[in-house]
This record gives sequence, C-alpha cells and structure tokens, in this order.
Amino acid sequence: MLKGKTALVTGSTSGIGLGIAKSLAERGANIILNGFGDSEGPRREIASLGVQVAYHGADMSKPAEIEEMMKFAAAQFGRVDILVNNAGIQHVAKIEDFPVEKWDAVLAINLSSAFHATRLALPAMKVANWGRIINVASAHGLVGSAEKSAYVAAKHGLVGLTKVTALENATTGVTCNAICPGWVLTPLVQKQVDARAAAQNISNEDAKRQLLGEKEPSMQFTTPAELGELAVFFCSAAGNNVRGVAWNMDGGWLAQ
Ligand code: NAD
Repeated sequence: MLKGKTALVTGSTSGIGLGIAKSLAERGANIILNGFGDSEGPRREIASLGVQVAYHGADMSKPAEIEEMMKFAAAQFGRVDILVNNAGIQHVAKIEDFPVEKWDAVLAINLSSAFHATRLALPAMKVANWGRIINVASAHGLVGSAEKSAYVAAKHGLVGLTKVTALENATTGVTCNAICPGWVLTPLVQKQVDARAAAQNISNEDAKRQLLGEKEPSMQFTTPAELGELAVFFCSAAGNNVRGVAWNMDGGWLAQ
C-alpha cells in the first residue's frame, strides 16, 4: 500500500514513534528514523521488513538541525511523503515550581518542532499533490491534568496546528491529522510510574494500576502497534478526506 513512499518519523528510536515506523514499514514505506539513544537496533528492525531505512539524529529543539534533517531526507529519498511529528518529552511540576528551561524545552520539542518540520515538508508534498502529516498529540491535547502545564499547553497547541495545516491544504491531496493516545507504556510513561512507586513506596505494578485507574476506564495501556495501525489508516486511500481530526485512542479517558 505504501511502497515507494517515504515516511519520516521524529522521535522514532523508541516507544510510539518506533511502533508507527514499524507499521508504515510493514506496508512498504521507506523510513527515516530520528531520535536519541540507540539507533542501530531500530534500524535493523525496520530493515528486516524489507524497506530502505536511514537515520538522522537532529535535535528537534533546534530549527537549524530540523532543516538539515529535511535536506538529508530529500537527498536520500527525493522527498518526504509522510511526516509523523512524534518526538516529545514530559516534565511534571506545579506551575510555580516549573523550571523555565523545562517549559522552553517541552514547547520546543513537543510543538515548535512540528511547525518547523511541517513548513519544510509541505512544498514537496504540494507539488506531488499527495502527503500525510500525522501529529502525535495526546489525550492531553484535549483535556488537562495538574502538574503538566507545558505538556498540556504544547499538545493543545499541536491539535490547533493540526487543524490549520489541514485547512490550508484542504483542496489538495495533503492531509493532516492528530493522534491522541491515552497511557502507553513507553520510557516516557515508565518514568512517571517509577516516580509514583518511589514517592508512595508501592510496587511498580501498583503504580501502573493507580495511573490507569485515575484516567482510563479500560485499565489497559494502548500499544505503539495499535497507534501504528491508526497512522496506517490516515495514510490509506480511505483517509483521503479525513482532515484536521484529533483521534483519541485512550481506553475511554475522554468519554467520561
Ligand atoms: P519515548 O520517550 O519512548 O520516545 C520519545 C522519542 O523522542 C525518543 O525517540 C527520543 O529519543 C525522542 N526525543 C526526545 N527528545 C528529542 C529531541 N530533542 N530531538 C529528537 N528526538 C527526541 O516516548 P513516547 O511515549 O513514545 O512518546 C512519543 C510521543 O507520544 C510524544 O510526543 C509523547 O508526548 C506522545 N504521547 C505519549 C503517551 C504515552 O503514554 N507514552 C501518551 C500520549 C502521547
């Protein structure tokens, strides 16, 4: 289905980004990985699916490095057909205690990076009259939680950016949509589980149950593979006229 297309997934060396990259590769898309940490393992995993894979280590908080990555993508594969803006970080603290540099970093990585990658990817997508921009927002793009001011602000902003990107390209073959996961057990969430277990002197399993119990009626984590299949749907022909949605996959969190 996606043979001959190129997908750039930011923050894809682990977690949700890697899951989405795998699902797109399973449908034949060539993949450009990005993110910190080990890139060799994810690279081998994607290559074993029979597609071409490249890696660029751009720091998504730095516009100049994002620009270099987009040039690298064009040089490797001609253009980016599918852009998944997924890189993200979290920091948890009350507003009055929130470190200013953490606020700046969360906004830069979770929101501004999507603006930069999108503005650089759009011209070639418009020439081809086909493109898919998928923004990985969050349930926190639609509702708030205490102690997550920067994250909630950035994710609400990302949902807004998704709508504007969709509208500006609504008469073209370029679509833009957001995925809004609830809890997914990735390194980003494991850190919050560990902090909760330590603070309350409870087991890791109890901390996970507590975390889920506060928000998700399903009491289940969503998986990166499930989110990957939603990305595949947005890339399919059935997704041609799906524009500007923020689709939650959250075990019922937002149904309450
Ligand atoms: P993760 O920590 O497993 O992955 C984050 C990825 O982003 C990693 O590849 C990391 O190296 C990369 N990254 C971090 N800072 C970067 C930077 N400055 N430049 C480039 N890459 C950078 O986390 P995850 O849970 O897979 O999160 C992926 C996205 O999903 C994030 O945007 C996150 O906000 C969102 N999300 C996660 C959950 C969840 O429950 N895990 C829920 C909703 C939304």
